[in-house]
Amino acid sequence: MPEPDRIDYIGGSDVPDLIQLEPWGCSRRLYYSKLPVEQDFPFHGNYHTKRGQRLEEIAIEEYEVATGRWTYKIGFVQDPKRPWRCVHGDREQEGMDNKGMGLVEAKCPAVAGFSRIRMQGIPLAYEVQLQWGLGLLGHQWGTVVVFNADYWALIWKDYERDDELIELMLERGEESWRIILNDRLMGMQDNIPEPLPVSDRRCISCPWRARCKSLGDYGEEIGHEEVPEVAPVKDYSLSLLAGEYLDAHAAHKDAKDNLDELKEQLKALMGERIAVDAGNALIYQTLVKMPDKVIKAHTQKRIRVRGKKNGD
Ligand code: SF4
Repeated sequence: MPEPDRIDYIGGSDVPDLIQLEPWGCSRRLYYSKLPVEQDFPFHGNYHTKRGQRLEEIAIEEYEVATGRWTYKIGFVQDPKRPWRCVHGDREQEGMDNKGMGLVEAKCPAVAGFSRIRMQGIPLAYEVQLQWGLGLLGHQWGTVVVFNADYWALIWKDYERDDELIELMLERGEESWRIILNDRLMGMQDNIPEPLPVSDRRCISCPWRARCKSLGDYGEEIGHEEVPEVAPVKDYSLSLLAGEYLDAHAAHKDAKDNLDELKEQLKALMGERIAVDAGNALIYQTLVKMPDKVIKAHTQKRIRVRGKKNGD
């Protein structure tokens, strides 16, 4: 049977939106995506998404070697009783005594995401996707596998089936799908869920942010930018360079996110200490006086990390 279009089912990656899971889920976004409503800023993937997909196989191989568990491909599965409920399962596995087959959900986040997971643990958004698959396949256990190729590092965690969460997701799924089909049939958007609060960070990169929140090209930053009101001249010879720029921009943002994340973690671990010798680096908390320019003059506390030299 051919695989249905993504707009015709709710899959595991839709579940954070389905249950509006903090910090990224939005049920209104699910509604827009399945009705479907045309995106204001279509996202066709970037090198992070491509790399993440290609690395999944490697993540599974590393997991098999590390745990000695065998895994098997499963692909797309549709609930025969509720065709709207589907899963793109990564793998099934065996290896847990007396528990039968389990499921594997593999993720390959970029450096900033992986670094956060290493400090804070596997996010709930990954677990709910695994539980969605367990609900559909009837397995009693599963594993979230997280791999990052830059660090060549692997994290995994086993989970038991959570019937209460599965039931909640099923109820929300039934209700949301009924509403979506009804509005599709009537050609209306009458039952669209309420939007998130005005300044919610989920909206900054949402593909429907213009119609939903009147946000522009770069979300909230657009307020400072004046886009010239002239019709663009077509010149597709620039597309290669433009593509490279977008990839470099995404890599730059990822590196900055990672640096910010690491600074926050160091700040928290430093506590009240002003200077720490970490063996490989000296870490200081410094005070920086900001002049009265764009914002009012104030003093900022900053973290500085300096690699140690001979004699330090
Ligand atoms: S703009 Fe915000 S509230 Fe609207 S659909 Fe997107 S994430 Fe949800």
